[in-house]
Amino acid sequence: MTERAAPYYCPYCGDEDLEPHEGDGEKGAGYAWTCGACARVFRVKFVGLRSAAITGTVDGTQTGGNA
Ligand SMILES: [Zn+2]
Repeated sequence: MTERAAPYYCPYCGDEDLEPHEGDGEKGAGYAWTCGACARVFRVKFVGLRSAAITGTVDGTQTGGNA
């Protein structure tokens, strides 16, 4: 996986015409993308892992699968 993972769809209008918004890539703040359809510029930022993915199997009540 590269550091900049490409989003496939605009989160606002759902269009696929996305391009990297160069010059606005702050380290740790996520990379900016611009949508060619609605002209919005947005960031995709990694927040972290959901806690259930780490501790979900500890209590033994979750056996996996979709609840
Ligand atoms: Zn859009």
